[in-house]
Amino acid sequence: MVFSLEDFDSRKILLATKNKGKAKELSLMLAPYGTEVLSANDVDFPDVVEDGLSFAENAAKKAKAGALATGLPTLADDSGLEVEALGGNPGIYSARFAIDGDYMRAMKSLYDDALAKNDLRARFTCVLVLALPNQETCAFEGRVNGHLVWPPKGENGFGYDPFFVPEGYKDTFGVLPDKVKNKISHRAMAFKKFIAECF
Ligand code: IMP
Repeated sequence: MVFSLEDFDSRKILLATKNKGKAKELSLMLAPYGTEVLSANDVDFPDVVEDGLSFAENAAKKAKAGALATGLPTLADDSGLEVEALGGNPGIYSARFAIDGDYMRAMKSLYDDALAKNDLRARFTCVLVLALPNQETCAFEGRVNGHLVWPPKGENGFGYDPFFVPEGYKDTFGVLPDKVKNKISHRAMAFKKFIAECF
């Protein structure tokens, strides 16, 4: 189905996420556009099984579920950390890899495995999918390359941020100010494409 922007009303958008880190970053990025932003914590959001085999499939499932449940244009984010030496893992399984939300254990295990292979390169990938109430969708992808460090540093951001240093910087996303991360991150890159196409 061809995505028709004529049907997109950007005055109110639902973010299909309960992840407070993602919701905060996307809300900040949307702030200049005068859009009213709701997150999955503000509405009766259906449970979505993330059984897709790609970021794009999972993001589309979440976006469509939100749009169907609320009648609002819904923006979903599916994202993750891809470690070069581990064939791109944990990738779409990034959230689940941090069992019980234990990111320290998850980061240590990924760092040790990457170090053992002598290759600390990694990247974050994000796919944003906008779904309209009529179930049309449009996808935007962003990436940021970098490398892993140990020990983790900084309290900013969320998830795997404290052990990821983006290319061209000396500090982790945990140390860099939100303003910097929100300019160069995988999410920021996908968001730029979304704005260019949809606003
Ligand atoms: P999702 O809800 O399946 O898209 O899970 C994405 C997971 O990838 C998050 O829970 C984090 O573990 C990780 N992730 C994605 N984006 C970021 C980021 O910007 N910083 C740190 N971790 C991230």
